[in-house]
Amino acid sequence: MDFIPYGRQSINRQDILALTEALQDNYLTTGPKIDEFEKALAKHLNFQYVVALSNGTAALHLASLCLLEKNETVVTPPNSFLATANSILYAGAQPLFIDITDNGLIDLNLAEDAIKRGTKALYAVSFSGLPFDGINYLKEKYNIKFLLDNAHFIGQNETDCDIATYSFHPVKHITTGEGGAVATNDKVIYEKLRTLRNHGMQKSNKYPWDYEMTDLGYNYRLTDIQCALGLSQLSKLDLFQKRRHQIAKRYHQSPLTALYPYNNKSSYHLFVARHPFESLEQKAEFFIKMREKNIGLQYHYIPINKQPYYRSLGYGNEKTPIMDRYYLESFSLPIYPSLKENEQEYVIETALELLP
Ligand SMILES: *Cc1c(COP(=O)(O)O)cnc(C)c1O
Repeated sequence: MDFIPYGRQSINRQDILALTEALQDNYLTTGPKIDEFEKALAKHLNFQYVVALSNGTAALHLASLCLLEKNETVVTPPNSFLATANSILYAGAQPLFIDITDNGLIDLNLAEDAIKRGTKALYAVSFSGLPFDGINYLKEKYNIKFLLDNAHFIGQNETDCDIATYSFHPVKHITTGEGGAVATNDKVIYEKLRTLRNHGMQKSNKYPWDYEMTDLGYNYRLTDIQCALGLSQLSKLDLFQKRRHQIAKRYHQSPLTALYPYNNKSSYHLFVARHPFESLEQKAEFFIKMREKNIGLQYHYIPINKQPYYRSLGYGNEKTPIMDRYYLESFSLPIYPSLKENEQEYVIETALELLP
C-alpha cells in the first residue's frame, strides 16, 4: 500500500489546463481572474464581498487589523491552528482561551460568561468543518465583534459574523497552492481589506503617475495564476464534498468512535476519531505503528495556549479539562476526495487491529 496521508490536494487535467492557460495570459498577477474568483467564492459562501489573499494567515491578520483594537481581549479556543490566536497578537490584542465542548468547538456558554465579564470580541473556529449552531444570539444580545475562522468549513454561511476567513492550502477543501480569503457583508471592511492587501495604496488623480498611501498595508495579493487554479478547483467543490461525505459515512459505519455523529452540514475537512488512550505515550505508539503500515495519522490541535511562546506570555494554565481529555484521546483519520475505497478499508482494518 502506498503512503496514505491524513489529507492531500486533488489536482486533475482540468486544473493543469487552467494553469497553463493562465500562464499565457497578459497578467500573471493582479488580473481579471482575481475578480472572477472572488465573485464565485462570494456566491458559494453566501457573503456579499470576498477579498482573495496570499494565504489564510494573511486573511486572519488583515481581518484582525480591521476588527480589533490594541489591548482588548478576544475569546478564542485553544483547539485551532496557531494562526487564529497569532492574528489576535498581530493586532496588539490579547487572546482569552476558553475550553471546547466534546465536538471540538469552542464552548459557547463559557464564551458567553467571558463576554458578560467584559470581552467584546469572539474568534470562533468551525473546527473539522462543523458549522456553528445557535451562535448568532451572542452577536445580537451583546453586540460583540465576531470572526469565524472557516479554514475547515466551506459551505453557505448562516451566521452573523462580521468576517469569515478561508485558507486554500493544499490540505484544505480547494487549493491555490498557498492562498486565502476574507469574506464579509460590510462594505467599509471590504474596502479597507482591499487597501491593506496592496500596501495601503489608493489611486489618486492629480498627476498621471499618482498614488497615495493612506494606511500601513502589506503585499498580501493572490496571483492571477493562483486564482485560475482556484476557479477550476471551485467548479469541482460539490464533487469533493460528496466524496468527503461518503468517506465520513463509511468511518461512521465502522467500529471506530467518531468525535461527533454524522452531520450532513459538516464540510468534513477532518475526520476526528477518539479512543480512551491511557497516556500521550500510548497514543504516540499507536501513531508510530500506523506510520509503519504507511498510514499518516495526524492530531489537530496541540492547545495553542500551551505552546512555549504563549507560555512566555503567561498563558498555559487556563482550566480546560475538555480540551485536555480531547488532546489525550483524539486523532485525525485520512479523508480527502482522492482517497480510494480500498485504501479506506485498509485504514479502518489497520486502526482496529493496532488500537490498544
Ligand atoms: C490552515 C489554517 C489556517 C491558516 O491558513 P494558511 O493558508 O495555512 O495560512 C488558519 N486557521 C486554521 C483553523 C487552519 O486550519
